[in-house]
Amino acid sequence: MAERLDVIAPFFNEAESAIAFVGLLDRLEAAVAERFGMTVRKILVDDGSHDGSAETFAAALSGSWEIVRLSRNFGKEAAVLAGLDHSRGDLVLIMDSDLQHSMDISLKMIGELVDNPEIDVVFAQNDRREGSWRRSQLARLFYKLINSSQRFDIPENAGDFRVMRGAVARALTRVRDKRRFNKGLFAWAGFRQKAVLYSPESRAGGTSKWSRFNLIAFSIEGFTSFSVIPLRIISLIGLLAAFAGLAYGVKVVFEVLFFGIAVPGYPSIMVAVVLLGGLNLALLGLIGEYVWVTLSESKDRPVYIVRDVLYGNAAEQVTPG
Ligand code: UDP
Ligand code: MG
Repeated sequence: MAERLDVIAPFFNEAESAIAFVGLLDRLEAAVAERFGMTVRKILVDDGSHDGSAETFAAALSGSWEIVRLSRNFGKEAAVLAGLDHSRGDLVLIMDSDLQHSMDISLKMIGELVDNPEIDVVFAQNDRREGSWRRSQLARLFYKLINSSQRFDIPENAGDFRVMRGAVARALTRVRDKRRFNKGLFAWAGFRQKAVLYSPESRAGGTSKWSRFNLIAFSIEGFTSFSVIPLRIISLIGLLAAFAGLAYGVKVVFEVLFFGIAVPGYPSIMVAVVLLGGLNLALLGLIGEYVWVTLSESKDRPVYIVRDVLYGNAAEQVTPG
């Protein structure tokens, strides 16, 4: 029987939605106590905010809470890990602090876990991706490629919004990848997972931290930490190009020797040089990405650094190892 629910919410400059989010947490806490008889501990992670959101949260929060303040902005993925490191709950809920993740879906996911001992993780899956058709096709292609080479599947349109049993949360804290691609890590960890469909609410205030460039960088990160497929594809293209070049060379030599045809030169050479030169550069860049992953992992720096922790309920202070 689950007794304690930890709610982990990272925030980075969310002063605008802080008060509303605390309201959501309060309502969630009341509903969880009433429906499932569980206590709630709120574990907020301040990912280097500089707009005073931590102070706003500290003043507004009630009950059992803590705010883990990181020494600077480490990114949402690292902040989620910091939250997991500080959690000891029987169930752990991860949600955004910008009110895009609703209380109803959270309750539904918690209910699924409480009712089904067979399931360890319930994750929210975005049922309609806002944005263009082209973008959704790109996303689909991304998942197809990244899932084509491994023993576990990364579900489409599912992020950090999820509820898991304590054992899963503990297991996840053992994964200390520096370049964290949470969607991939959650899938990699395994366990019995179930999806609940949802449509995210619109932001309460402030702006999303995802630019188009960020998204592209994030996808490359996903690939290079979870897939060798891009390397294989490029190698294959290189091989094909080499074969084509070889065949063409044989044809040219044959024509010169037997028919005395002058070699038609410039255009074909230019095409070959530019094409292969481009492929070479692309491949080098790609290898560089993988080398960079290796480099950053081998430096063995911590994923995040804690500046201090504010407690709302001094009864329980945990220091992660
Ligand atoms: N966030 C964070 N660190 C960051 C960027 C974002 O902790 O470097 C938090 C942010 O405050 C929010 C959640 O992560 O609670 C999701 O961020 P955002 O709303 O920007 O992403 P989106 O909802 O657009 O995917
Ligand atoms: Mg958001």
